[in-house]
Amino acid sequence: MALIVQKYGGSSVATPERIKQIADRIIKTKRAGHRLVVVVSAMGDTTDELIELMEKVNPDPPKRELDLLLSTGEIVSAAILAAAIQAQGEKAIAFTAYQGGIITDNIHTKARIQKIDTRKMLEELDKGNILIIAGFQGITAGDTITTLGRGGSDTTALALAAALQAKVCEIYSDVEGVFTADPRIVPEARKLKQISYDEMLELASLGAKVLHLRAMEIARKFNVTLHIRSSFSEEEGTLVR
Ligand code: ADP
Ligand code: ASP
Ligand code: MG
Repeated sequence: MALIVQKYGGSSVATPERIKQIADRIIKTKRAGHRLVVVVSAMGDTTDELIELMEKVNPDPPKRELDLLLSTGEIVSAAILAAAIQAQGEKAIAFTAYQGGIITDNIHTKARIQKIDTRKMLEELDKGNILIIAGFQGITAGDTITTLGRGGSDTTALALAAALQAKVCEIYSDVEGVFTADPRIVPEARKLKQISYDEMLELASLGAKVLHLRAMEIARKFNVTLHIRSSFSEEEGTLVR
């Protein structure tokens, strides 16, 4: 059975209705006979709201506590999505980065993943569970919670896809794929069917937030096939390979 990693960004999990819709898509993939690891971002604008909240009490938020606070956004999404999947009679389990064994350095707010201990994740997959992982976060060797930088759930997904040797890593967001330019700014931009690692790396380094730069670096280094597509439609997106 092939393993697939799917990542759903903030707009894809913004409301309970959206979460139920992606639960359907996830269950379909599972029932098509795949092992499935799902990485989620915080719901909607949660991360921005949490930063604003802390700034109300401290204009210069302490980075350790900021990371602890921000990590909660992705944990909420993971727990709610696992519950939505279970409501439809499919087995799912939600993990924090700590439970998933995602180890980072100790550079708060822009930590780098150093290693992933896949043991517990593989145990849950072997039990037939869909594994839901809170994106954007890690844990240091000293058990402190870190985050991977804004947009970092993409990096969690690619790092897991590499560590678990996934057949494909699907990145779901609110655009149909990778375009020649940001389709929100340039309406005549064209969707690309396929793009090379180097071209995608260049787009990401120019700041196209459709994919986090570190995520793209991991994809190229470990040769992970990437499919960037929309959670709002069934259309094929853009293949990066
Ligand atoms: P998510 O929250 O799912 O991670 P993001 O908002 O981070 O999604 O990334 C998707 C956004 O990236 C799109 O809404 C789009 O405005 C922007 N974007 C910038 N450049 C591009 C591009 N070349 N192709 C597609 N989307 C792009
Ligand atoms: N929630 C985090 C952010 O807004 C991580 C992510 O969405 O990838 O940056
Ligand atoms: Mg993003």
